[in-house]
Amino acid sequence: MSEELIMKRNTKILATVGPAIEREEELKKVKDLVDVFRINTAHGDFESYEKTLKNIRKYTNASVLIDVKGPEVRVRTDELIIKEGDEIEFFFKTKKPYFSYNFLKEITEKDKVFFDNGLIESSIKEKKKESIILKFNEDSILKPNKGINIPNKSLKIPVLSKKDKEAVEWAEKKKLAYIALSFVRSKEDILNLKKHIKNKDIGIISKIENWEGVKNIDEIISESDGIMIARGDLGIEVPEQKIPLIQKKIIEKTNQQAKISIVATQMLESMTDNKTPTRAEVSDVANAILDGTDAVMLSGETAIGKYPLQSLKVMDKVAREVEDKVENRVDINKPGNISEEMSKNAYSLLQRTKADKLVTLTRSGYSANLVSRYRFKKPIIAVTDNKLTSEKLELVWGVKPVYIKDLPGFEKIVRTTSVLVNKRLIKKKEHVVFFAGIKTLQEKISNMIEVHHVKDLLEYDAKF
Ligand code: PGA
Ligand code: MN
Repeated sequence: MSEELIMKRNTKILATVGPAIEREEELKKVKDLVDVFRINTAHGDFESYEKTLKNIRKYTNASVLIDVKGPEVRVRTDELIIKEGDEIEFFFKTKKPYFSYNFLKEITEKDKVFFDNGLIESSIKEKKKESIILKFNEDSILKPNKGINIPNKSLKIPVLSKKDKEAVEWAEKKKLAYIALSFVRSKEDILNLKKHIKNKDIGIISKIENWEGVKNIDEIISESDGIMIARGDLGIEVPEQKIPLIQKKIIEKTNQQAKISIVATQMLESMTDNKTPTRAEVSDVANAILDGTDAVMLSGETAIGKYPLQSLKVMDKVAREVEDKVENRVDINKPGNISEEMSKNAYSLLQRTKADKLVTLTRSGYSANLVSRYRFKKPIIAVTDNKLTSEKLELVWGVKPVYIKDLPGFEKIVRTTSVLVNKRLIKKKEHVVFFAGIKTLQEKISNMIEVHHVKDLLEYDAKF
């Protein structure tokens, strides 16, 4: 089938892979609803990631993001049934149950330890030499491998564990579109990650999940390709009532800087076990989109849930319902650099003339990012001869990436036009705004706008 058809939805969907969708049969069912799959290295090993990736590449066109855990602590245990008043001893790697990082010297008996996104709370009963006794005040079930949080503590964990480094290496080898780093605290964490990455084209997403990350958001955005608002951990590390405004602020800032935003965690949480979402969840997805996020993410819903396909369908239909109402929030009056000012003109042409579509020719993706942030109601097609760029653009709002191998430097526009007409992505009768960086060897320069009636362009091409 040709690539034409109506443009997909503008809002992008990220789905975490796990036992619920990682096999051929399930992947085939969900593939049309997913733009990017997340491989979460908190679970599984490289053998399993290898298998999953192979299936994703074989049965879907989606891009892949690998989530590396950074300074995160998890509890290694078999399922633990906890009764009110229980006092349980936890170790540090010597025997189960244990924590993946030894924080014994960094906490006091006044601290609290939360498990599983804050679901289970415990207080510290006793610090021993090589273990800790935690007291639980409620009945609960602690599942294996859950993350833990100790609010208001900045633990001295190295940014990248041995497994993280392996994951980064694997991501490069497999040419994955994105590496997401958990618990980013400052730009230093990103610079440290970058030291381990050779291919500068690979995208970096910073997961914001504690106070430090929120505080240093500006410098983190500058060093990243995008931000994930990781509300699960964030909601414990900072008071939960602050999350909605933090979410809005981060989306606005990433938008302004032409970077990507992803809203994550508990978006359709109840659908892990139920066939239908709560009204509040539907509103949450809708509101994240109205806040201006590029992408919304599913975690347990698609990784281990009972209804992964239904969850994706709900996300898809909510996005389609509300995304027309997303408004441009970029301050047009604020002076920008030359590329930004050029993008404003492209925006204005799309808004104020009969131009039907915008086509960007982009190597790094920057031109596409610049125009996407205005949240056009008209389609943006991003043509690139860089495979990784086209995969990265799968995460950008409103952008339909098209990979064209060997795009000649000369007469790119004419050549692109005939390819896009053949793919039925643009039509003869349409007017197209072309936006690109040309006659420069620099990246991140957008310096050209041309507007053409496609029919004229094709006739011109045939004549000369
Ligand atoms: P996680 O990150 O699913 O990797 O923990 C998301 C979050 O904390 O919200
Ligand atoms: Mn997290």
